[in-house]
Amino acid sequence: MDNHSPRGPRSALLDKLAWLEYAFQPAGLPAPADAAYGQQRHSARVVLAGQNQPPKSCESDGVIGDSLSPVAVYTADCLPVLFADAGTHQVAAVHAGLQGTLAGVLGSAIDSLQARGAQVAGLYIAIGPAIGPCCYELGSDRVAQMQARDDLPTPRWSVEQPHNPLAVRPQARAHHQGVWFDLPYLARELLLQRGIPAPHIDVLNLCTYCMAETGSSYRYNTHFASGYQSRFSWIRRREEGGVTSL
Ligand SMILES: [Zn+2]
Repeated sequence: MDNHSPRGPRSALLDKLAWLEYAFQPAGLPAPADAAYGQQRHSARVVLAGQNQPPKSCESDGVIGDSLSPVAVYTADCLPVLFADAGTHQVAAVHAGLQGTLAGVLGSAIDSLQARGAQVAGLYIAIGPAIGPCCYELGSDRVAQMQARDDLPTPRWSVEQPHNPLAVRPQARAHHQGVWFDLPYLARELLLQRGIPAPHIDVLNLCTYCMAETGSSYRYNTHFASGYQSRFSWIRRREEGGVTSL
């Protein structure tokens, strides 16, 4: 995996879909000029691209493509989640931090795609660079709140900080006797709960804090005041109509 190309790391799953283009761009690069993205609020709101063209026309945390222009999200530890529907050739980009994930933004995106003709069995989803369980310390009270919700899958977390053998810089140090929380896992479980086939979900497992390029982690900046920049992740359909196969 090449983490430092202009397009950023690749998803082997999305790379199989010849009818689309996408990127999890390195932090700091501008979004494509014609990309639609919302004023993100950690909400469950998903809108059509036209509502965020020009960008940030409205508050939303997910954008469904309605033309050949890319749909995008910007993140810096939260999950950038790209959706592709093999049946209708629709695409979506979703910003899912813990708050938005718990608010149901992933389910909202699936609902919107289904309302426009997609079927869950045809959805392919990639979760890009985001803070991993190696570096994401969370108060144990927050985990208890999740465990008390019967609509959520069982979250994954550990008291002992997981060692990340792929880290290129020191992992986060414990700051408040919390637990080490696996946000990408929660997102994947929620997608499975909604009926997405497991082989259709690609989690890149690239931690923004200890693995991705310098300056891409909001939390690292919180700890070291070293600065950070947003990462734009985008996806688009290549052409109108055409074949409906993969
Ligand atoms: Zn890490």
